[in-house]
Amino acid sequence: MRVVLKIDVDTYHGLAAGLPRLLDVLGARRIPASVYVAMGPDHSGRAIRRFFTHKGFARKMVRSGAVRLYGLRTALYGTLLPGPQIARSFPDRLRRVIAEGHELGVHGYDHVHWHDRLLALPERRVASEIDRALAVFGDIIGRAPDGFAAPGWQCSAASLSCLDRGPFSYHSSTRGTRPYRPRIDAVVGALPEIPTTAPTLDELLGLGIGGHEAVESLWRSLGEHEVSVLTVHAEVEGGPCLDLFVTLLDRLQPTTRFERLVDVAGSLDPRTLPVAGVVQGTRPGRAGTVSCQVE
Ligand SMILES: [Zn+2]
Repeated sequence: MRVVLKIDVDTYHGLAAGLPRLLDVLGARRIPASVYVAMGPDHSGRAIRRFFTHKGFARKMVRSGAVRLYGLRTALYGTLLPGPQIARSFPDRLRRVIAEGHELGVHGYDHVHWHDRLLALPERRVASEIDRALAVFGDIIGRAPDGFAAPGWQCSAASLSCLDRGPFSYHSSTRGTRPYRPRIDAVVGALPEIPTTAPTLDELLGLGIGGHEAVESLWRSLGEHEVSVLTVHAEVEGGPCLDLFVTLLDRLQPTTRFERLVDVAGSLDPRTLPVAGVVQGTRPGRAGTVSCQVE
């Protein structure tokens, strides 16, 4: 099996605490991964708030799993508390990713803004999100990233056009089955899109599938494609679900070659990749819609 572990870091807490735990686990097993960090402010409170009616918001938040998963401060960032900068607060964490042989890419600037608003944003506003993310990445790492992973798997004609202008060599912004060049409206992206192929652990948990059953389900999904991509969240697998993630790695390791997305992208020729449409679709266990490759 060829498997890519794509680690998304959406929040300040995820970069502070979740990512180091995941790097420890991967380092001990000599497993390489691709890590994408939201480069701007943490506005998670706005994302969490949209799941609740305004009445009784705080009480519902405490009762639901949101506080356990993200911590109380994260649940308030961008609402009652100002959102702290994610990448700029922990430049050493970002450098550690590269020093340990992993790939570091960009997961947008303001994760919540991209996730909630991308489909309505004009091209100049999308370009500004990407430019701001690139400026932070450049300040910390001293060069440009290879890969872009869209927050919340949200992809639009405007984002395809912006990402084609560089400096990226690929993106991983949709759910699908195999690498392709995405088409949205009249725009056909020039770069390879390498989609997430497997369900995420938080989607399985959302369906009531946990423990051994979740590990077996992911193991089966990861054997279904030539190159399988599993998206992992620093806040989930690097948090309350770390034990499950370790069990999955131990299950995979004997028969799996782990690769980084930048290396998979390097083996693809965009001129011969199939073009496929992208539509908004749902995924079992996930709220809202995500951008999906059309088969
Ligand atoms: Zn994300």
